[in-house]
Amino acid sequence: MTQLSLSRKLAVLSDAAKYDASCASSGTVKRSSAETGGIGSTEGSGICHSYAPDGRCISLLKILLTNFCVYDCIYCVNRSSSNVQRARFSVEEVVALTLDFYKRNYIEGLFLSSGIIRSPDYTMEEMVRVARGLREGRKFGGYIHLKVIPNAAPELLAEAARYADRLSTNIELPTDVSLEALAPEKKSSSIRTAMAHIAHKREESRPDGKVLGKPKPTVLAPAGQSTQMIIGADAATDATILERSASLYSGYGLKRVYYSAFSPIPDSSSRLPLAPPPLLREHRLYQADWLLRFYGFDAEEIVSGGRDGLLDLQLDPKLAWALGNRGKFPVDVNRAEREVLLRVPGLGVKVVDRILTTRRHHKLRLSDLGRMCGSIEKVRPFVEAADWTPGGLTDSAGLRGQMTPKPVQGELF
Ligand code: SF4
Repeated sequence: MTQLSLSRKLAVLSDAAKYDASCASSGTVKRSSAETGGIGSTEGSGICHSYAPDGRCISLLKILLTNFCVYDCIYCVNRSSSNVQRARFSVEEVVALTLDFYKRNYIEGLFLSSGIIRSPDYTMEEMVRVARGLREGRKFGGYIHLKVIPNAAPELLAEAARYADRLSTNIELPTDVSLEALAPEKKSSSIRTAMAHIAHKREESRPDGKVLGKPKPTVLAPAGQSTQMIIGADAATDATILERSASLYSGYGLKRVYYSAFSPIPDSSSRLPLAPPPLLREHRLYQADWLLRFYGFDAEEIVSGGRDGLLDLQLDPKLAWALGNRGKFPVDVNRAEREVLLRVPGLGVKVVDRILTTRRHHKLRLSDLGRMCGSIEKVRPFVEAADWTPGGLTDSAGLRGQMTPKPVQGELF
């Protein structure tokens, strides 16, 4: 085999890692230089730019340890039957690259995944050696996100959790049937077992007591677990996707489910679609995911505004739901419960909390809402205030026409 230069390996293995979306570094706790006795911190700014849910831009060295793989998942460019150039870093090379990039202020941390070489245990062991080498060998206090190899020994997962801020085990596809068809060597039971084991270990590591009324953060993998689901490679509907997400959130306490629109790959199987799904579908799924996590919606009702189990691509899912449930509006902002206010289009969590605080002191008028929301246009047809009722603004079809925006990528509600 030809020996590749380090820079060529970096080019191959960073390009191979670009298909993984699950690398936002939100939610960790700071490992200070004082704590590690060395360099690096999970705080601050930063070759891969990711956006945390709070909007913070972070930069990570996002690479695979290797793109050799003994598995043949048909949607993956690194599958064993794929004709791509292969490369492999040594553990020492990844440690040195991370430190070098960190010292140059290119990155805040490392996102490390890998194809499976020899066995799940061997691969996971190599990844743990990278993390251990950084933390113990070089006192690295920056952010580390490790991809979990399902079927690796529980002791290796526990050790990975000891060194990493975040662990992610990819669920890959929305249904077990699709996983079996498109990634026959993977077993959804092994993926779920790995998630459950990590969740259990993290919980065991939580110190007793509370900070500001909340349980203290766990010592193991303090930024929690995440996963990635490929959308549009199979026929799963958005309803199925969101139901799977809801069960992952409730069953394993995941911090995030990342949705990655399937991208067609060279020489792919005829079982895969020829075209990617609309990017807007991925965006609507992220919006719907927020409704699941923070707005009290369940998966079934979120997709009720669309058709055939698919989200409405023209409207954000909360607005689509509200238009489909016109009978539940208008909502009186001076009397409604928090969970009812959270369902009003245009009212985010922070605004709802401000409404609840402010109305203790005086009755809210439409202008008060306008000041809290920035724009009142989206809210006005759905609320009553001290000086406002929507009157004739109750026709769903008319409102839909009025409120359908030109799609803008990256827009959040
Ligand atoms: S295990 Fe499957 S998805 Fe992961 S690198 Fe190998 S072929 Fe790709």
